Order: sequence, then C-alpha cells, then structure tokens
Amino acid sequence: VARKLVAMDLGDLRRHHLSLVLDHLVREGPRSRARLAAETGLTKKTVSALVADLIDRELVEELDTPRPGTVGRPGTDVAAAGRTVGGLGLEINVDYVAAYVLDLSGEVCVRHRSDGDNRGVPTDRVVRRLRRLAMAALDAAAARGIRCAGATLALPGLVDPTSGTLFVAPNLHWLGDQGDAPAEALRLAGLDAVRADNEANLAALAELRFGVGRRLSSFVYVSGGIGIGAGVVLDGRLLRGAHGFAGELGHVVIDPAGPPCACGARGCLEVSDRSPLAVATALRSLVHLLDPEAVVLGGTFATLGEANAGEVARHLDRLTLGARWHPSLAVPSTLGADAALLGAATAALDRVVADPTIVPILNEEPSA
Ligand SMILES: [Zn+2]
Repeated sequence: VARKLVAMDLGDLRRHHLSLVLDHLVREGPRSRARLAAETGLTKKTVSALVADLIDRELVEELDTPRPGTVGRPGTDVAAAGRTVGGLGLEINVDYVAAYVLDLSGEVCVRHRSDGDNRGVPTDRVVRRLRRLAMAALDAAAARGIRCAGATLALPGLVDPTSGTLFVAPNLHWLGDQGDAPAEALRLAGLDAVRADNEANLAALAELRFGVGRRLSSFVYVSGGIGIGAGVVLDGRLLRGAHGFAGELGHVVIDPAGPPCACGARGCLEVSDRSPLAVATALRSLVHLLDPEAVVLGGTFATLGEANAGEVARHLDRLTLGARWHPSLAVPSTLGADAALLGAATAALDRVVADPTIVPILNEEPSA
C-alpha cells in the first residue's frame, strides 16, 4: 500500500511540474531551459525532462533561431506551441452566437460569428445554431492542424460554473424554468467537454491574461452590451461568490423609481441611461466594498473611449471616500467585442495547462 501511495504522489508531482513549466511559458513567453529552471526553482535536469515530455505532447516547441551568441541546443528558446492544441470558446449572447479557437501561443486561429436576435427563441434552437458554428470552427481548426482540448461557453446570465447550468438569462428571456441547459445540450449534441460560465467573468479572465488586467492585481471589469455584467478580480483571482453569481452590476439599483427591469426590479443600471454618472453610481458601492485598483470598461463602454472612462473616474472620485488618497482609475478595455470569447477559449485551454497529461503523447507505442 505504501509503495502505491508513493507512486501516486510522484505522478501528481510530475503533473504539477509539467503544469508549472507550461503555465510559465504560456504566461511569460519563450525562454531558454536555463531561464525556466531559474524562474520556476526546478533543477535544469528536471526542466529538460519536463520540456521533453511537453514537446512529445506537442504542447511546447523548440524555436528555430538560437539567440545571438549561443550555439545549438543550450541556447535555444522553447515556447508554448502554436497550432497544435487549441481551446474552443463559444458564446451565446442576445444578438449573436460565436465560436473562437485560440492556441497555446495566444494566437486566435478561428473566429466565426452569426448575428441574429436570440431573445425569446427556444434554447434548443439557439443551441442548434451554435452547434453548427462550433463544428465549422472545429473543422477549420483541424484543417490548420489544431485539435481542441475542451470548450467553454460564455452565457449572459447566472451560471453555475461547476455544472454549467444556466439558471436565468433575463435579456434572452430565458428564465430557467424550461430546463435551459445549453452546455448540457451541446454535450449531448456531440461536443465533448463543454463547460459554461458567465460572459463577464470570462471577459475579466481575458483581461487578466491579455489586456490591461496584466498590470493590475485587483480590478472590476464592466461588460457593456444589451445587458451589463461585471467580473471582479481580487488579488489575481476571479471572485465568483458562493454560487458563481457574483458581479451582477447591471442589477444594482440606480433609481428605485426608475423604469422596470427584466429582473423584476426598477431603476437597475441596465435600464438606466448608462451615462458616466449612472455607471459611477452603480460602481460606488462596489468600490467601497472591494477597493479595486481600477475599473476596466469593456464592450460598448470601451467603444466610448478614454474620455468617457475619465468621466466615470471623476464621478467616482466625488462619490467614494478613499479617492482623496488614491484617485479612481477607469480605463477602456483594449480587447474589443471578443473579450468574453477570448476568455472562454482561454478557460478551455487552461484545463490543458492545469494538467498537460490530458493531452496524449502522439505516436506513443501502445503498451501491451
Ligand atoms: Zn435589474
């Protein structure tokens, strides 16, 4: 029994080390084995063995050009591999469905989008449309040599990220009482390993990895579309809450006597005029509660640009207690309309980064 336990622990340790090395390359970019060893705290010998394993799985590649002043293998940089393994990001939103394939090198390889109003359309019809788009995206990826290791679906509503269940998406008029389970439906339709998450959470994840969030440890990402959501990142981690429902900024009440909202309340931010003052009024409580370094304005708010963001910050300065010592910072997102899709594809790829052994070694001799 003791020997078996030790063997299991070694397997776990190796998986952990493989993940450590791949994660470092994905986040920090190409570098030499020696630098990888120095930065991860592993020995050079261990790093070389781990890199060899990751190369066998086509998750890491050796870059052709040695750096100046070096000869041959010792100076050759290794990088997270492009165009081998991908993550499939999917999105159902109010007026479109979309599919997106991202590879480990961070390159967007496929981007398909189909516009059309999904409001009140039965879930299974929207899912069928998305499934066709997803299959086309997988085919296009395969034609480029990319196999997708997983898929994540971005949804504009309350999602349980563990089960993928969509409880309610008010702007789609999907109220959760008709068995709305788009991720489950996609799985049943032959798309393996589909998970689901809230679109603003996924956009915040993309912001953390690729956008202005790279320089921030705590921020609130505000996603503006037909609905409004927020993804809250605290100390580099997404704040989900007990049930995955955190960040429903669109349903913070600005004016209790305001117009009715799809959620049943009155005067939510989502049904306000969405002026910088309204946005700052909704953010005020969040800033007081969470003390973020910055607010990142995404989606339609990003298209309003720097001046609009500056105005939100000025209102926050006036409305929050701590601004006198730490002035408010609001910046437009640079990721554009695809932030949630990018986050979804990243989340799908993160499963490979967390456990590289889920990707089999190609051409391995089958064990007898
Ligand atoms: Zn509301």
